[in-house]
Amino acid sequence: MRQHVQQTYMYWLRTDLVPSFFGTVRYSSDCDDDVCSNHSDDSVSHVSDSDSEDSVVIPVYRRIQMHLKGSTDVVVNPAPKVYSLSARQENELINDDNNAEAVETVKLSLTTRGGRRKWDKRDFCKFCQKPQSKLIRHMMLKHRNEVEVEDFIAMPLKSKRRHLMQRKLRNDGNYMHNVSVLKDQSGEIIPFRRPSVSQHSSDDFIPCESCHAMFVKDNLWRHRKKCPFKQSHSGHSRCQGFGSILLPFSSAASEGLKRDIMTGLNQDDVASVVRTDDVIMKFASRLHFQHSHAKHRFPYIKERIRQMGRFLLQMRSMTSVKCLSDCLDPTMFESVVSAVRCICGFDVDMKLTYLRP
Ligand SMILES: [Zn+2]
Ligand SMILES: [Zn+2]
Repeated sequence: MRQHVQQTYMYWLRTDLVPSFFGTVRYSSDCDDDVCSNHSDDSVSHVSDSDSEDSVVIPVYRRIQMHLKGSTDVVVNPAPKVYSLSARQENELINDDNNAEAVETVKLSLTTRGGRRKWDKRDFCKFCQKPQSKLIRHMMLKHRNEVEVEDFIAMPLKSKRRHLMQRKLRNDGNYMHNVSVLKDQSGEIIPFRRPSVSQHSSDDFIPCESCHAMFVKDNLWRHRKKCPFKQSHSGHSRCQGFGSILLPFSSAASEGLKRDIMTGLNQDDVASVVRTDDVIMKFASRLHFQHSHAKHRFPYIKERIRQMGRFLLQMRSMTSVKCLSDCLDPTMFESVVSAVRCICGFDVDMKLTYLRP
């Protein structure tokens, strides 16, 4: 059984780093407890080549790099790590040690508190990254030497151009703050217009590609029609897709992948999950590198990405894993099989058939 598990994971690593969901991962009900136990206390998982004592143990991460060797379109870091996961991993360690509740929370700035309107909107300064209630006055007093501030000071008071420049500075500061909140998964997002009630999650907000202000994704098209910073040549209809590539991405995602594939993805919970996952983005970048010459292969790449995103969402709902690399662990074998069966609509009781082959 131990050998079977190892062979299965070796197969994952040989074939595109992921389990081939349908038909490859076989489930065996006689899984021994000692196989499913944790073999190591180290944070980095290891896969052994053989059962012999003298076998060389190679970290999973290094195997991934070996697999990707030769690809010029993929960024391979010595220790692949999603920058947005740094705070998460710290929080995981805290949780493991203290059994405390999750610290990471992304909130949405609202206009009401306790049913009453509040007038406390603070915009973040682009230059010092601090919240300011009177942003323009703050910039004129503290950052007078900045070129952009000098420019709008030189313009006539109450002119339209001066107003637009101030608005762009305000949007840029808030955008920088929002990106850092989403990276750290902690803090409060400041949209262009704060809602009165919290009916949207942070994943529902996408920045405008021209002015960087955050809007609810369903309303972004309406803003794009009258965005004063819109370029005349950007006549595409995928405003959500092009806005989404301004959100935090895994460093493993190539520019070509973002431009050709990620802008065309349906911007739902699956897209927001795959965006920051290191292994999925590395896999997708490799696929894009292989097939980017043929546009008719783009739907295939999108489907493979969404397949893995659905799998990761299912794993998150069943276990405490945060990213796909957490699933590349022999102790996760049963959970992986259960998640794959759940996604495929496996009918255990009736006909032992798959709803989606
Ligand atoms: Zn400042
Ligand atoms: Zn805009």
